Amino acid sequence: MGSRKVTSSEPLDWQGKHVTVAGLGVSGIPAAKVLHARGANVTVVNDGDDARAREQAAELEALGITVRLGDGATLPEGTELVVTAPGWKPDKPLFAAAREAGLEIWGDVELAWRLRGPDAAPWLAITGTNGKTTTTQMLASILKAAGLRTAAVGNIGVSLLDAVLGEEQYDVLAVELSSYQLHWAPSLRAHSAAVLNLAPDHLDWHGSMEAYAADKGRVYEGNRVACVYNVADKATEDLVREADVEEGCRAVGFTLGTPGPSQLGIVEGILVDRAFVEDRHKNAQELAEISDVNPPAPHNIANALAAAALARAFGVPARAVRDGLRDFTPDAHRIAHVADVDAVAYVDDSKATNTHAAEASLAAYESIVWIAGGLAKGATFDELVAKSAKRLRGVVLIGQDRALIREALARHAPEVPVVDLDRTDTGAMLAAVQEASRLAVAGDTVLLAPACASMDMFANYNKRGDAFAEAVRELGS
Ligand code: ADP
Repeated sequence: MGSRKVTSSEPLDWQGKHVTVAGLGVSGIPAAKVLHARGANVTVVNDGDDARAREQAAELEALGITVRLGDGATLPEGTELVVTAPGWKPDKPLFAAAREAGLEIWGDVELAWRLRGPDAAPWLAITGTNGKTTTTQMLASILKAAGLRTAAVGNIGVSLLDAVLGEEQYDVLAVELSSYQLHWAPSLRAHSAAVLNLAPDHLDWHGSMEAYAADKGRVYEGNRVACVYNVADKATEDLVREADVEEGCRAVGFTLGTPGPSQLGIVEGILVDRAFVEDRHKNAQELAEISDVNPPAPHNIANALAAAALARAFGVPARAVRDGLRDFTPDAHRIAHVADVDAVAYVDDSKATNTHAAEASLAAYESIVWIAGGLAKGATFDELVAKSAKRLRGVVLIGQDRALIREALARHAPEVPVVDLDRTDTGAMLAAVQEASRLAVAGDTVLLAPACASMDMFANYNKRGDAFAEAVRELGS
């Protein structure tokens, strides 16, 4: 870790400034409105030109904002700053032109960071390939239990712009950040931050694993108190080492093993802190019991430790960590126990949309009938199947790219029975659950952890999980 002085946010005079907002949408529309209200001369550019875009454009034009539909590639004449939707790919010609002209490009997070007031609440930031939403919500719950005014914001629920410009006063914000958002947030400086884990994801957007990791690593830049990393995932620790932080900022690890000094970890079923205690070489502080974590699956205990580390970095007492974890209930479709039917548990982890998430999910149960498949997004399944093979009672495959998983099973788990449902219609989920129930024996878990995106069969992962729950109910009736 290097150290350097952090630049504070620079208040800009927006009057008459020519700002191009790239992308109509959840971040573009509020950004355009806010900047226009501050006196900027705003032009919104958008690739699409459909009925919805026209409707949105009309609303903005009525305010006096210029909107250019059907051309998101050309940089409008006279642009002084580009504010982009986070999802826009960095290799777009619009950005090449902006860089050529020496312009700054800000995403939604950068904009919120720059517009926040002088007494704004500090940010505790969370990123990683999986577990971001859960950990951010756990952190907010812990901060609330400590009596702090806070909210879980960012790539989740409330937008950052709303959080920093709204009426509500906060003491501290729990901020979930995606790799896209971090890419476009060059001057963000969090109080403390955590990278939960790093596995290949969104590589088509970032261009390479190195570029993806580098964007995640930006979350540590300029941290003041703690850079929280995952001891079991060396890549996260490497990012801490490469970060430039404020003098005195500490590297704090979390581990499912016994913690060393400057780490949080587990000792005999207890979450303990050996980082934020007096004399950490001799002392440890008990924070909570594993049973306080919901659900107590290994990856989720890791999430709880990361949330606890950030809360402790902010000075939260141990008791509030325990109370906050107890108060927390995970969002739907994240290892949600749907029902027990004939002594078999049915668990919906439809949110496991990549192999890394599915691996964590499968590691949480001893004997599993696994429902998997969907859109693979370029993933390979060998490692996942090889690591999970011994836990599999059987597998039911659905969705477009199921052959990829079937082939990996043939290579690494040839003895495991596989039902390959040659269907991608929505009703396939009922058939999948029925097949799974036939394979399962008492004490098993039927786990929907598809390791794939859902869009070949469902509108989104929520709908996929709902269809699973529905099918389980039908089974039990
Ligand atoms: P994100 O916001 O990063 O997508 P979520 O908290 O919504 O993360 O969890 C998404 C999925 O990732 C969960 O359904 C679970 O399968 C998996 N998951 C959660 N935490 C972890 C973790 N620490 N490591 C690996 N997988 C995880």
